[in-house]
Amino acid sequence: MQCFIILTVNNYKLKTKKIMKTLHCSDAGFDCKAVIHADTDEEVLTQAADHARTVHGTSVTPEMAEQIKTLIREE
Ligand SMILES: [Zn+2]
Repeated sequence: MQCFIILTVNNYKLKTKKIMKTLHCSDAGFDCKAVIHADTDEEVLTQAADHARTVHGTSVTPEMAEQIKTLIREE
C-alpha cells in the first residue's frame, strides 16, 4: 500500500514537470490573445483548428496546419 502511494506521487511529479506545447494565436497572424496548450503537436493542431473555426470563422487548410506546426513553442 505504501509503495502504491509513492508511485502515485512520483507520477504526479513527472506529469507536472512535462513540457507543454503552446501556440499563440497572434503568431498565426490573428489579432487574438488566445494561447493553446496541449501535450502534443497533434493536439495543438486539433485545438487550433477548433479555435480558428469557432472564434475566427476560418477553417485550417493542410498548408495552414504545416505553418502552424512551425509556430508551436515548448514551454
Ligand atoms: Zn484566435
